[in-house]
Amino acid sequence: MKIICIGRNYVDHAKELNNPVPKEPVVFMKPDSAILQTNKPFFIPSFTQDVHHELEVVVKITKVGKHIQKKFARKYYNSISVGIDFTARDLQAQLKEKGLPWEKAKAFDGSAPIGKFIPIKENQIMENIDFSMTKNGKLIQAGNTKDMLFSIDTLIEHVSKYFTLKIGDLIYTGTPAGVGKVEIGDVLEAYIGSKKLLTTFVK
Ligand code: ZN
Repeated sequence: MKIICIGRNYVDHAKELNNPVPKEPVVFMKPDSAILQTNKPFFIPSFTQDVHHELEVVVKITKVGKHIQKKFARKYYNSISVGIDFTARDLQAQLKEKGLPWEKAKAFDGSAPIGKFIPIKENQIMENIDFSMTKNGKLIQAGNTKDMLFSIDTLIEHVSKYFTLKIGDLIYTGTPAGVGKVEIGDVLEAYIGSKKLLTTFVK
């Protein structure tokens, strides 16, 4: 399986990092070795002093597809969760400055904690999903999918032009504002609505 990630999909987050608001989705990938299941420890890697959490809604693909039209995108997923796109912000800044790819800063082992998936109803409005995350019990990120620049179905249409989507592939749909540094000892807990789906222990 593969993990497809969307960058700068919320205006407030693009602005907090002084990035331009994109005209089409910003896409990057993580390998399957980046996956970290809920309740597992995340070890801060030795090559960074500044790992940031990015809380994101995640969609799991349930059907193989290529060139999927937006109006049919809903047939390709039936559950969602939350995940964290851990980012070595210091390393990413160096790579961006040199115009190099981001993988070392974004796709390292354990950089993609993933929560428990919950089914979605066939007629569920995907553009009104509240999600949030606490750090040590304190709210640090909250968003709603209505604020996405590119909706989930638009992302599926765009991404499947380039990559065949396969069963089990995950799409991390971008973070709202409020990204920040994690420290050893932090406990991150992420929710859709009031349902806790993900816990990550930072070690
Ligand atoms: Zn992200």
